[in-house]
Amino acid sequence: MNAILPPRPVRGQASDSPYWAPVLETQSREAWDAQTLALLRAHLRHAYSNSPYYRRRFDAAGLRPEDLRTLEDLRHFPTLDKAVLRERQEAVPLLGDLAAVPEEEVVYVSASSGSTGVPTVSPFTAHDFEEWIDFEARLFWASGLRPVDRYAHSLNFSLFVGGPCVLGAQKLGALSIHAGTVPSERLLTILRQFQATALWTTPSYAWYLGETAEKEGIDPRRDLAVKRIFVAGEPGGSIPETRQRIEDLWGARVYDYYGLSDVFGACAGMCEERHGLHWAEDHIHVEVLDPVTGAPVAEGERGELVLTTLRKRARPLIRFRVGDIVSFTTERCACGRTSKRLLGVHGRVDDMLIIRGVNIFPSDVEALVRKDPDFTGEYRLVVERKDHLDALTVEVEHRANSQVPLETLAERLRGHLKAVTGVGARVVVLPPDTLPRATHKAKRLDDRRGAVWTA
Ligand SMILES: [Zn+2]
Repeated sequence: MNAILPPRPVRGQASDSPYWAPVLETQSREAWDAQTLALLRAHLRHAYSNSPYYRRRFDAAGLRPEDLRTLEDLRHFPTLDKAVLRERQEAVPLLGDLAAVPEEEVVYVSASSGSTGVPTVSPFTAHDFEEWIDFEARLFWASGLRPVDRYAHSLNFSLFVGGPCVLGAQKLGALSIHAGTVPSERLLTILRQFQATALWTTPSYAWYLGETAEKEGIDPRRDLAVKRIFVAGEPGGSIPETRQRIEDLWGARVYDYYGLSDVFGACAGMCEERHGLHWAEDHIHVEVLDPVTGAPVAEGERGELVLTTLRKRARPLIRFRVGDIVSFTTERCACGRTSKRLLGVHGRVDDMLIIRGVNIFPSDVEALVRKDPDFTGEYRLVVERKDHLDALTVEVEHRANSQVPLETLAERLRGHLKAVTGVGARVVVLPPDTLPRATHKAKRLDDRRGAVWTA
């Protein structure tokens, strides 16, 4: 075992402000909205003048950038989605005709394959990149990261937009360890060697890594120095029960982050209050819409996230339908910040299960399973169609030391599921370590419903 290192020395007097950009972060709602409107108008002009795609779309809709007089006017402009990005990129290689700068101004690209294979490219100018890293530093600062920290960034660096977020930690002065995605034994070695005080990974992996450490005789609470874990990529980081399990394993605080492969590595992150994720509202404008009707939903209600970049010059995204079901608040946070907060990512529009007409997300089930100490927290949803009706089975594992009869456990979860989601499910309680352990992006849904009329 490594000797415990002394704390990281910091040169000079570190800022003791809770804010990275105090004036911006605490401005009034009116100031945020005025700023958004001004940025949006300039951004629409830039897109219309420089991107063949937007010029065509706006002309076809009979719209000009000047038609945006209020924030509400944005809803008249057409939306687009990932399929459009893919199609326009194939039509006009390399960057697609949503790009609004010539390739020589592009200095960085990320790419993401999504589920259908062809990677879509997200370009940045040097200025876009610099601005992005500055607000990543701001998000990290809000989560309590400081120059005194040793920060291990355990995300993929290969064209993945989450990779460069490490530069935000570096910008604020933390010792930044570009760990990447390495086997868990190697990552544990890195965490011990550098006595990392902060770590970024996915929620499933934080859980898995903590359990792996314990199996190898390393107690993360005692043998490692990690006090903050940033997580993203799955809803788990905003599910209190999941966060609690990871925190118990590590003796660390978990901060949820939200990023998008075609936009920015992190668009929002939790402050020390950890009640919602502060949105980088000076870079991305948010709409939350009913996925069926397209009408805006009330604050706090669930709807599809539609976002608009405000200053990313290389490729503006105007009314990009993300496919995530989210909820937001504009209430002032107890930390003093006034930016919009993402209250939760409740699932993908695609993951939204409709069981006999009732909407349910895997995250609804996750919260219930992880709240019950007699379960290990692992789960899987199996959806089948029996006699032309949808049937949901929830598979869970009981803990090795649980004394409760299995039938009682199943009945208890069945009752909670019915009460919370309105869906009647079959619950199967399995022995511990039966379900496949997810390492990175967890696949916990097995939808076996095929064609409508399979018998
Ligand atoms: Zn806050």
